[in-house]
Amino acid sequence: MRIDPCLIDLPLEHIDPSIFERGYSYADDEGIWYEVYVTNQIKSCFPNSDVLYNDEGNGLLSKFSDVLIYHFEEDNQITFFVPSDEKIFDLIGLTKLLNDHKNYINQCSRCHINLTKFEIELNTSLPINKPICIRCERDTQKEIIKKLSESTAEDLDIYDT
Ligand SMILES: [Zn+2]
Repeated sequence: MRIDPCLIDLPLEHIDPSIFERGYSYADDEGIWYEVYVTNQIKSCFPNSDVLYNDEGNGLLSKFSDVLIYHFEEDNQITFFVPSDEKIFDLIGLTKLLNDHKNYINQCSRCHINLTKFEIELNTSLPINKPICIRCERDTQKEIIKKLSESTAEDLDIYDT
């Protein structure tokens, strides 16, 4: 930890309001510290902060520097550092990443229709790998049942011969 986060107090002016409520920065010799607060809509895309960053160094923010996520679940807050020579994992990179994730969870991975609020909640509350709408979910179940009944039928054929 190279800095006291209290120093990060210069308000950010050109941030995407659909992603961030507000944000602050602090520049030192090595780069820029950012402390951003995501909108409640973005927050709702993450059932918990582990999806963003966890002890194993995984998550969407794993390639960002000095990520602090302790206050995410309570205050929507993400703190991170952008070294002077960093070109990808900066504030623009974070904005794009959060926006992509928002679009990803808002769409069915099969038919690409926009999901309803209920479907999004269902997807984030259940251990589903890819977002899916209720109709596609039903179709998937039907396919599985059909396959199962076909393989059972094949098994039964054995007894016929
Ligand atoms: Zn679908």
